[in-house]
Amino acid sequence: MTGQVQAQLAAGDRAVQRAYSAFIQHTQLCEPCRKNGADCADAAGLRQAWRDAKREVAA
Ligand SMILES: [Zn+2]
Repeated sequence: MTGQVQAQLAAGDRAVQRAYSAFIQHTQLCEPCRKNGADCADAAGLRQAWRDAKREVAA
């Protein structure tokens, strides 16, 4: 593995981590998310962003 590929992977991991904590942070702070235990529209968007980030890493 070249250093460049490794750097890209690390950047992807960071993007996944960032997207994940944004999603978790939202669910902890968002009243509807906490009360209903379901994703509100914002949470759904954040979850999708997290999925996309993970797919980028896997690709
Ligand atoms: Zn929410």
